[in-house]
Amino acid sequence: MSLKLPKMRSVHMTYLYLSDPENLEKFLSEFRQNLKKKYQKIIVEGEERYTCGQEHTRLNPSWAPFQHLERYCLEKGLDDFEVRDFLEEYLRRPIICECDILIDHREQRKRDLARIFGLDFEGYDLLIESREGC
Ligand SMILES: [Zn+2]
Repeated sequence: MSLKLPKMRSVHMTYLYLSDPENLEKFLSEFRQNLKKKYQKIIVEGEERYTCGQEHTRLNPSWAPFQHLERYCLEKGLDDFEVRDFLEEYLRRPIICECDILIDHREQRKRDLARIFGLDFEGYDLLIESREGC
């Protein structure tokens, strides 16, 4: 029986990797794309949001808060605990579920600007027509 060892990067290497803003942006955008494919989409106030669909409480046995992040980090050779720590620091808020990673205040700000000025940043499909009476 051959055991295939994952190419897990050390905590230190993960930190160094994410410390490069280019790598961080790449990781975030790729992981978010990946997660969006797996999550259900909901529309809140005409805006697309994604959720894991589970109640965030340990009392919920169906809640697997970091299942996709763990797998994704393993594929990328990153330490998922360090990734979580790093992202909490970067996004300046606690991440108790991977669906929290999808919330990006700067992205939301971009979308707000896009809505106000009618511009489309980075391929966001804006649902302008769903906007009512303003
Ligand atoms: Zn969640």
